[in-house]
Amino acid sequence: MSAVTNAEEIDGIRFRSDMTVELVKHAASDADVIWAARVSTKGESSLEELERDPERSKGLIRFLMRDRHGTPFEHSSMTFYVRAPIFVFREFMRHRTFSYNEESGRYRKLQPEFYVPAPDRKLVQVGKPGKYEFVEGTEEQYRLVVEATKRSCRQAYAAYLEMLEAGVAREVARGVLPVNLYSSMYATCNARALMHFLSLRTRREGSAFPSFPQREIEMVAEQMEALWARLMPITYEAFQAAGRVAP
Ligand SMILES: Cc1cc2nc3c(=O)[nH]c(=O)nc-3n(C[C@H](O)[C@H](O)[C@H](O)COP(=O)(O)OP(=O)(O)OC[C@H]3O[C@@H](n4cnc5c(N)ncnc54)[C@H](O)[C@@H]3O)c2cc1C
Repeated sequence: MSAVTNAEEIDGIRFRSDMTVELVKHAASDADVIWAARVSTKGESSLEELERDPERSKGLIRFLMRDRHGTPFEHSSMTFYVRAPIFVFREFMRHRTFSYNEESGRYRKLQPEFYVPAPDRKLVQVGKPGKYEFVEGTEEQYRLVVEATKRSCRQAYAAYLEMLEAGVAREVARGVLPVNLYSSMYATCNARALMHFLSLRTRREGSAFPSFPQREIEMVAEQMEALWARLMPITYEAFQAAGRVAP
């Protein structure tokens, strides 16, 4: 398939194919897990004490993960700033153990930034519901997706502007905008909630319970996973070893 560029700006309307994830703040480390777990056997202890016996700490984290003692993984916090299309947020917000704040289409004029699939996005679904896979589309199908998407976004945004210029409220005018419009949000979670999210929104070899997420939310999940793995490497390794089952 030829490389059709799709990240471009036409008449002030931006099209892109990527998702942005930033870790804006965090209080999350492997020590937090050990510290919380050890209250049951040692009582109160300091976080510094935990650094003294790293091998024992690793063993404890692996045990907690394997036996699904999940609560010690809740004593952490990560806040991500995510920029992704609205249809991704719709799936994302089904995860109720995250806290969310999203930009408002009532208080702000929405910016003309729209998602268009990249050339490597598989376009065709083959198989029955519950047992299907996605395969490459033809060049013609890809061109159609890009052209039809861009045409319809430009038309929708023009209608949005027309209504705003006529004095219609933003909350009414936004009704014509499509779900591939980019939005932004802060999403805060703990490590246990993140593992649950990752187990459902990524597709990986070696998962005890394979999931089949939509590619676009998986693109967000992959970035979150990479950021989290750096903060809690022992917990991350234990999660992988346990078949990516959230404790
Ligand atoms: C591949 C895929 C396809 C999907 N397709 C659809 C679809 O077609 N239609 C659709 O509507 N949704 C769909 N979903 C969303 C799905 O049904 C869940 O809403 C989503 O995955 C969040 O899962 P969760 O409820 O386990 O997570 P969370 O809301 O993050 O909750 C985490 C865990 O907390 C516990 N919990 C949270 N709230 C409650 C509660 N009220 N009562 C009891 N326990 C609770 C549960 O143990 C839960 O597993 C899909 C999800 C995936 C991954």
